[in-house]
Amino acid sequence: MNLSRKPVQINEVIERIWEHHNPGMTEIVAIEDNTDRFLGEDIIAKTDVPAFDKSPYDGFALRAEDTAWASSENRIEFEVIDKIGAGSVSHKRIGGHQAVRIMTGAPIPSGCDTVIMLELVKEIERDGKNFIQITRKLKKGDNISFRGEDIKSGTLLVRKGTKINPGIQSLLATFGYKKLAVMRKPKIGVLATGDELLNVEEPLVPGKIRNSNSYMIVEQIKRSGAKAIHYGKIPDTFTATYDALHKAIAEVDMMITIGGVSVGDYDYMPKVYEALGADILCNKIAMRPGSVTTIASLDGKLLYGLSGNPSACYVGFELFARPIIRHSLGSNKPFLKKVKAILDVDFPKANPFTRFVRSKLFTGGTQLFVAPIGMDKSNIIFSLAYANCLMVLPGGTRGYKKGMEVEVLLLEDHEGSDLF
Ligand code: AMP
Ligand code: MG
Repeated sequence: MNLSRKPVQINEVIERIWEHHNPGMTEIVAIEDNTDRFLGEDIIAKTDVPAFDKSPYDGFALRAEDTAWASSENRIEFEVIDKIGAGSVSHKRIGGHQAVRIMTGAPIPSGCDTVIMLELVKEIERDGKNFIQITRKLKKGDNISFRGEDIKSGTLLVRKGTKINPGIQSLLATFGYKKLAVMRKPKIGVLATGDELLNVEEPLVPGKIRNSNSYMIVEQIKRSGAKAIHYGKIPDTFTATYDALHKAIAEVDMMITIGGVSVGDYDYMPKVYEALGADILCNKIAMRPGSVTTIASLDGKLLYGLSGNPSACYVGFELFARPIIRHSLGSNKPFLKKVKAILDVDFPKANPFTRFVRSKLFTGGTQLFVAPIGMDKSNIIFSLAYANCLMVLPGGTRGYKKGMEVEVLLLEDHEGSDLF
């Protein structure tokens, strides 16, 4: 059993886990049921949009050439020979100095090549017939929404793996996707270990804490697009841990356990992974928080033994589990999106390892600024509630100063990055 703990560099950890990634599968859902889902197929335009030349205004469709001599001194009169609303088609063919009353969205009648807005004409009724008078010259093509001007048939509109947003939903409906392929949500098991843990509904007693990490990780899993399966909590014994994991792993695509990965007397997780026959990919990572994270693979499934310290647990998931989940949801940008920002305070803490600081990114003028939230200790829960990013402070320095440029990983973004 090799449980010596040599810190592995973050990029090396990602390379090792990437060998066990799963490309993911698709399933068919109704358009109404695709909230929070990721496209399982490219969306390609099936028709031109608009599919026909149409009027963008309520007005009158006519021939531009008939307006050539129109001016405020020279009113030109047109006979109104038909009237159409959106959804109707005019079957009349217009001739010289004739017009069709047309509403927004209705197809341009054949023979017409321009539209004048309702507000710009004078309407007259004479001998039971309707006429309009125009005082301005129109150009051919004025005020027409042309066929295909929005989308050309055959265009690749949105790629597989993109999170479905309201605009994408509109495209799907436009092209008649009553059903569509979305990526199947991977099932991620969550199991907490620790004799000190209480269920959320239990009253506090001395020495005990409520199992808050499981709820946090379940929400991180959902935010990443996967389905979480909550396996509750177990005491710190080898047998309980082994049995619970053995059962859960068979039911999920990825397993996350919380706690028990440190070097304490009751930290059984690495030994349980070995006993299960899992291949340990790393059991210490060169980072803060979360250096005692253990990651293993068993039968093509990744097992994450995250530290029980809330922030270590949070960061470990975002850095190492989320990209694998995103990849299996079809994304070619599975990593957290990275931006540069100006550090808004001094950060004097030196560290040999790269530090991921729960932080708030904010704008000041045209510049992005970042500042840590609260205390930077791995047991702190409060800061997680307000973190919208993780500030990345590479190790091996004497700390950082206000005004320095730093990299920041966005936690609430759905676009992602192709590189860590
Ligand atoms: P461990 O990783 O098991 O050594 O736990 C490290 C610290 O995190 C200890 O203070 C634990 O009490 C705490 N902790 C462990 N599991 C949880 C959990 N599920 N929810 C909240 N805190 C936890
Ligand atoms: Mg523990």
